[in-house]
Parts: sequence; structure tokens; C-alpha cells
Amino acid sequence: MSGELEQQSGLVGRRPTLTEMLGRAARLRCPRCGEGKLFKAWFRMHTECSGCHFHYERAPGYFLGASYISYGITALTITLIFILGRFQFGATANQLIIPLAVLALLLPLSMFRHARGIWMAFDCYFDSSVLADEDRPR
Ligand SMILES: [Zn+2]
Repeated sequence: MSGELEQQSGLVGRRPTLTEMLGRAARLRCPRCGEGKLFKAWFRMHTECSGCHFHYERAPGYFLGASYISYGITALTITLIFILGRFQFGATANQLIIPLAVLALLLPLSMFRHARGIWMAFDCYFDSSVLADEDRPR
């Protein structure tokens, strides 16, 4: 019975592509099936997918990797805005520092959920054992 459901949902025989998993991350959905929601509140995640029972947090501290994604996007954004503001619009460094400091605080908070989704997508894509492990009985 569950085999038929897995066949119908496409879980067996085909791994999702990175593009599919990143699309699911953008929609804050399970990287494995794309059905279950990742979050039940802004900062609170579900423990597993409601659609395929994929366990989201693989190990304690698993989502530390999401902070690297958040940091990278924040650093890149602030650098680009600084360069544009300084050299395209002629702003001084003193004029830019307060808005960029505020952005450095707010941007990681605003992308917290998507950073976790992207982290899971990359982890599932580059570590082929991630999705395979979920098929084994515990
Ligand atoms: Zn799922």
C-alpha cells in the first residue's frame, strides 16, 4: 500500500533535481516530496514532513549550516549595496554604515526560514545518503 503511494508521489526511483529541491526550499516545502510544510511558525519547524515523514533535522546542530547560507547572502548583499552606494551614488561611508548595519541585522532574520530550506536542499542533493537513509526502518 505504501509502495503504491510512493510510486504515485514519485518518491521511488527518482531523486529530485537540485532545481526542484531549491524550488521547494523557496516555497518552504519538504525537499524530498515537496508536499509537507517545513515551518509551523516563523521560527518553529515541524520535526518531519507531513507528506512523506522525512525527518528534517538529521542530527543535533544540523541547521548550523543554514547560518553559513544566511551569512553568505547577507555579506554579498551588503557588499554590493556598499559598492553601489559609494561608487554609483557617491554616498560616504559614514552615510552608509547605519543603514547597512540595520540591514545586517534584519536580513538574516528575514531569510531565516529560506536559509534552512536552501541548506536542506543542498544537503539532500550533495549527500546522496540523506534521502536513502529515510527509506530504511529505524
Ligand atoms: Zn516530504
